[in-house]
Parts: sequence; C-alpha cells; structure tokens
Amino acid sequence: MSELAVHGGTPALQGLGDFPTWPQPDADEEKALLEVYRSGKWGSTAGPVVAEFEQEFAHYQDAAHGTALVNGTLAIVAALRACGVGLGDEVIVPPYTFIATASAALFLGAVPVFADVDPQTHLLDPAASAAAITERTRAIVPVHLAGRAADMDAFRELGRTRGIAVIEDCAQAIGTRFRGQAVGSLGDMGTFSFQSSKNITAGEGGLVTTSDPALADALYSLVNVGRVRGGGWYQHQHVGYNLRLTEFQAAVLRPQLRRHPADQELRESRSQQLRAELERVEGVQLAPPDPNLTSHGHHLFILRLAELGRLGLRDAAVQALAAEGVHASPGYVPLHRNEAVVTDAREVAARLGQPYPEAPCPQADLVSTDTIWLPHRYLSGTEDQTSAVASALAKVAGAAAELQSSTVQAGG
Ligand SMILES: *Cc1c(COP(=O)(O)O)cnc(C)c1O
Repeated sequence: MSELAVHGGTPALQGLGDFPTWPQPDADEEKALLEVYRSGKWGSTAGPVVAEFEQEFAHYQDAAHGTALVNGTLAIVAALRACGVGLGDEVIVPPYTFIATASAALFLGAVPVFADVDPQTHLLDPAASAAAITERTRAIVPVHLAGRAADMDAFRELGRTRGIAVIEDCAQAIGTRFRGQAVGSLGDMGTFSFQSSKNITAGEGGLVTTSDPALADALYSLVNVGRVRGGGWYQHQHVGYNLRLTEFQAAVLRPQLRRHPADQELRESRSQQLRAELERVEGVQLAPPDPNLTSHGHHLFILRLAELGRLGLRDAAVQALAAEGVHASPGYVPLHRNEAVVTDAREVAARLGQPYPEAPCPQADLVSTDTIWLPHRYLSGTEDQTSAVASALAKVAGAAAELQSSTVQAGG
C-alpha cells in the first residue's frame, strides 16, 4: 500500500488534471439568456419560457403537470400545503436528508416526525414509517437520496391504505426511474430543486410535479398569489405566496434538460466502473443493487467506511482523501439530532397540546458516523481519474492505523 498523501505520499489524483466543474454551461444557455434579456419579458407572467420548461420537465419525469417555483425547499412547502397539510398535522420524514425535508413541515405549523432509514441504502424505511403513523399523520415524504429511489411500492401502499399523501422529495433524483417510471410521478406529488449543486441548475429554482389536475390547480394558486388559471389579475381566490421562477432561470434550465440524458449516461458508466473497482476494496461498503432502480439519478456517490467509522476516523478519512485530490463530504448530521428542528417541532406540538412522537433512529445515528459521499462531478471525469478515485478510497480505507496515529498526534 502506497503512503497516504496526507503523510507525504504521492496524491492518487496527481497528474490526472481536475475533475469537471459544475455547472457546465454551453452556447445554448448563453443564447437563451440573451433572447430573454432582449425580449424584455423577464417574468413568467409576461414570457413563455417558464411554461415551456414546466411542460418539458413534467414530461421528462412522466408527470402530467409541472409547476416551477423558486427553490426545492418551498417546493416541499407548496406540495404539503396543496394536499392540505396545516397546523398540527404530522408529516413523516427521514432523518438522514437535507434539512428542508423537515423544515418544510415546520413552515406550515405542521410537525415533522422522524422514521428511521435503512442502513444499507440510507433511504426512509417503510416499516419504520408505518410504525410512526398516528391519527394526526397527513403526509409522508420519502427522499430519493443521492439519486436512488425509495421503495415506492411500499410508500404508495401506505398512502393508499392509511389515507395519507405521499410526496416524493426528488431534489437529488432528476432522471431517476423506478421500474421504468420516473420519480415524481409515483406518489401524489414530486418536488425538485435546481440549486447550484443539483444535476440541472439555475443557481436556484425548483419544481413540483403531479398528475392530479386538482393538485396542479392548487399549486398554481400557491405559486401565483392565490390567483386561479384564467382568472383576473386581482382575483385572489386563495391565500397564496409569490413563488414564481424567472424567465432567465428557465432559459438556462431548458438546454440542460436536453443534455441530461447524455450527462446521465456518462455518470452511469463512471459509477459502474467505480462500483466494480471498489467491490474488491475491504472497508468500503456500497448499497446493494436494486433491480427496481432502472435508472439511478447519480446526484451523489455514497459509501460507508464502516471500520473507520467504528474507530471514529471518518472525518480523518475525509481529510486524507482531500490530500489525495478527492474532496468528499462527511454527509448529514441526522435531523433528529438537529437542535433547531427538534426544538421547533416540540414547540409546535406543545402549543397545540399534542404529544411529539420521538422514536429513536439508531440506523440514522449509525450511518452518520461512517458515511461519506462524492458529488456528481466525480462521476463525469475520465476513466483514469475514476480509477484514481478508487485507488484513493482503497488507500484511505486500508489505513486505519496510520489515520489513528495522526489523529492521536493532532489531538495530543
Ligand atoms: C437540495 C435539497 C432540497 C432543497 O432544495 P433547495 O433548492 O436548496 O431549497 C430538499 N431536499 C433535498 C433532499 C435536497 O437535496
């Protein structure tokens, strides 16, 4: 085993150049932006570009309707609101996700209730979700984390039999398909994000998909200050936000959507290569393949370093990887451990005189000690770069003793 770069060895990525940055805009975005600029129609109440993008994106995700809006966080808020979630309602969410999945419920005075994840996939566990249902449960939000689909058979069944809305958080799952059908069309609604890190981006942005025309109308109204389609400008039939996306944003999203299948193909092929090369590496744990996952969205490449995690060396591993030229993330602090979220949730419940259901989430606790991930740009490099990432991971995964000694030195 060669010496760790963090201890003066040669970095695994040395001489192979940088990974592609993200986003990767081309002349199409520039042309589309200029067209909007010159048209003087910069808002979607004047121009056609947002509406065109909504249709194209909904079609791409196999849904009948798409409603664009300002970001993925407010996409979840609007989706929850559209299906009637309000004061004191409980919303089941996984703890191992971005904070927005839970804070969205709090913005509506609703109570996020955490159900544990499957440690092999990091995805919301249907059995734990079923156990978390109470008479106050109004919705459940499975997250297709990293681009891998949650078990939508199970969640649809839960929604149907228990009478609760199923909202798919698809922020990390553009292009993900579950048994051939795109996410965002499997539950009652799907929410997407076009924030800078996401696989299609306008810097910020979001969208909600649904195939239910009544929900689509409710979303339109929530995004457009309570207006109704075809109604008057000052006809505010409901209380709604202004959540509209601008024409500039839709202009840069449309060309990226057209390029997405090709981008996706490259990520799929690099991901397969990385998986194959990591299969032989001891100490690296990958999620088992899912035959229902007919297309992985590849937002993140997630892995667990179980042995290093047990030794408390996950963060040291992230540092050592950075020295090799691989900038991995140590992943989420689970939300049932986030003081702000839990305090707010308890407070809403207490003010309404409701109990706050707090089941332990031991699997989320476990994976949060040993998980790391690579952002998707690491799946868009050359084959040589991809092999070098595997070598870097192998070097670090097998270096428990070296990492421990340097941690002890640093700590001492
Ligand atoms: C990015 C993300 C969001 C929120 O999207 P924003 O556009 O940043 O508000 C929600 N859920 C998950 C799982 C995300 O990754």
